[in-house]
Amino acid sequence: MDLPIDEPSGRRRRGLLIVLSSPSGAGKSTISRMLLEADPAITMSISATTRPMRPGERDGVDYKFVDDAAFDAMVAAGEFVEWAPVFDFRYGTPKAPVKAALRDGRDILFDIDWQGTQQLHSAMGEDLVRIFLLPPSMAELERRLKARGTDSATVIASRMERAAGEISHWAEYDYVLVNGDSVACLEEVRAIVAAERLKRSRQAGLVTFVRDLVAGR
Ligand code: 5GP
Repeated sequence: MDLPIDEPSGRRRRGLLIVLSSPSGAGKSTISRMLLEADPAITMSISATTRPMRPGERDGVDYKFVDDAAFDAMVAAGEFVEWAPVFDFRYGTPKAPVKAALRDGRDILFDIDWQGTQQLHSAMGEDLVRIFLLPPSMAELERRLKARGTDSATVIASRMERAAGEISHWAEYDYVLVNGDSVACLEEVRAIVAAERLKRSRQAGLVTFVRDLVAGR
């Protein structure tokens, strides 16, 4: 897929598909929000889910909240670029907004689990940059889940049980960060994004730029 973006220099580059995965509670929602605020070139992919809405969440902003029948229909219609069961619910990345964002030359951020990352990697390959966030400790992970105050004790216990399973997929990612402090972690994520944007393979107009440069044009 050729995905040109106009850079101030006049050079063009392919869009980035940035995946941020972590066990639930390792801080990826906070990091995602901070990254989107700090970098207007990045838009968030809004997933569809059968999970009930949490207090404070907004339909169409945090997720598109759908029932089982609607999710089934979206799967049948091939509307997802990837989908997976997570906990007791299903989550999927709608294809159309991703295509539109890429067509418009925007970078996209995905907050998806390891299953979705594998599927997205198969579909999008080299356009993907995979970042995994680890909590500093399991005790800190549990503390953060409880501090969120949105999930019941049973849900927290099941998230803790699954965290080790999610963490076991760390080696399938290009970058692995320990999120001890969200400001420091955001800086690391931004450094990755900056470097990935400069990769030679993403700078689509480089051949022309260098030819003109050398020719003195
Ligand atoms: P939560 O219910 O806490 O919002 O999300 C639970 C998990 O589902 C998180 O690990 C999140 O990354 C993952 N998730 C959210 N949206 C998607 C999606 O579209 N596809 C996949 N595969 N996982 C998702």
